[in-house]
Amino acid sequence: MSTAPPSVLISEVAPRDGLQSVARTMPTAAKLAWIDALHGAGLREIEVGSFVPARRLPQMADVAEVVRHASRLPELTVMALVPNLRGAEAALAAGVHKLTVPVSASAAHSLANVRKTPEQMVDEVRAIVALCKERSPGVMVEAGISTAFGCTLQGPVPEDDVLRLAEALLRAGVDEAGLSDTTGMANPAQVRRLFLRLRAAIGEHAGAAHLHNTRGLGLANCLAAYDVGVRTFDASQGGIGGCPYAPGASGNVVTEDLVLMFEAMGVDTGVDLERLTAARAALVQGLPGEALYGMTPEAGLPKGFTYADGRLPAREALLPTTERLA
Ligand code: ZN
Repeated sequence: MSTAPPSVLISEVAPRDGLQSVARTMPTAAKLAWIDALHGAGLREIEVGSFVPARRLPQMADVAEVVRHASRLPELTVMALVPNLRGAEAALAAGVHKLTVPVSASAAHSLANVRKTPEQMVDEVRAIVALCKERSPGVMVEAGISTAFGCTLQGPVPEDDVLRLAEALLRAGVDEAGLSDTTGMANPAQVRRLFLRLRAAIGEHAGAAHLHNTRGLGLANCLAAYDVGVRTFDASQGGIGGCPYAPGASGNVVTEDLVLMFEAMGVDTGVDLERLTAARAALVQGLPGEALYGMTPEAGLPKGFTYADGRLPAREALLPTTERLA
């Protein structure tokens, strides 16, 4: 008789969300080694880049090559962000498994970011879905509703606007619509309420939670989402990316800390924390000196820690980093 809580899928977004918000460009060979290390740690969905013009985002100029490499890794869903139909064409040609299209619930944010209203973005999504069906029928399309919990330009974003947008995206043919706390404004009560409403509106098409740690509420918000049935969580190794506004605070939820939380609760993530922590070396190699966040890599695993599947960590990992070095 098993009473194990439902497992989760951690979707690693650092190679896209992280690298595109860092001014420097990680060399292609370093990106490939890092993605290999993340996959080796057990991550089974990785957002490897975005298909945007290289003159706008030189960090992503090699995205097609990165996709081709990642798609050879076993059991990995290779995701890429596409802002428009042109990006989707290139992504499908490169061989992605899943597309994610950001659609802002705030008109102000949408106009500033992509010079389109949310309604015009829904039309773009409809065209992307049609293209996928024609060229690569197996490829999934996810819409990530950005600024779902608030917007720095517009201020509060009415929940009804978010729900209306999710329903419109579903009519446009997406497989999933998830919610993003783009600006780190969400709180757990709001996360619980909005994901419950999302599920009531679009059922099993309710997608991932993309939550930020800008104000320290990232893990609390993830837990709130888990409690109301969310099972896919975006997170970033070392918390890189996600436009942090407060010094010392990461943008994206830190993958290492999120995996620790779930595994300690008995929720299986499939990720090996020791290998995940070791994968930081590949990130550091590609971006020397970049600030990394996260408490677990600093503190080490707590004494007596057991993975949700019953595995024990290697003995070394039980000790905090400082003791290990002393
Ligand atoms: Zn983010």
